[in-house]
Amino acid sequence: MAEKTLVIIKPDAVYRGFSGKIINRFEEVGFSIAAMKFQKVSEKQAVEHYKEHEGRDYYKRLMNFLLSGPVIVMVLEGPDVITRIRKMTGKTIATERESGTVRGDYSVNNLYNLIHSSDSSESSAREISIFFKPEEILEYETATKKYWFF
Ligand code: ADP
Ligand code: MG
Repeated sequence: MAEKTLVIIKPDAVYRGFSGKIINRFEEVGFSIAAMKFQKVSEKQAVEHYKEHEGRDYYKRLMNFLLSGPVIVMVLEGPDVITRIRKMTGKTIATERESGTVRGDYSVNNLYNLIHSSDSSESSAREISIFFKPEEILEYETATKKYWFF
């Protein structure tokens, strides 16, 4: 079954001009964009999105970072997209990141790590609802969808 996941291209990636190449990686694999917005994250959205991190020593810096500039929020769709995009994202901690991942290739820092991606189907459903109304998630044909379940 096709799944959906939430990806945020964070302010450092937008600032560094990496948005296009990050989106391109996901499109090249064959995942489709079901929704996408360029926006500033509101404080309410930031608190809700990172609520499980409240109290961590990096929490204040994380909030300031997410609110520091515009982001691209997107819903990606495809088979096993949650696990696949987590793998393409790379690990949270910089020293554990592998080359070939977005974070491994472009980020040296634990906090400024270019993208967010949902880590489970529960978080993906929760996180998508923070940023998108149901009617903003589009159903349409693409050239790659027919290969999803061959
Ligand atoms: P991930 O984004 O890989 O799912 P987490 O959910 O654990 O990672 O953390 C959310 C965000 O908080 C990370 O993407 C990163 O920006 C920041 N963060 C997490 N752990 C640390 C840390 N030890 N030091 C600095 N920032 C951190
Ligand atoms: Mg996380």
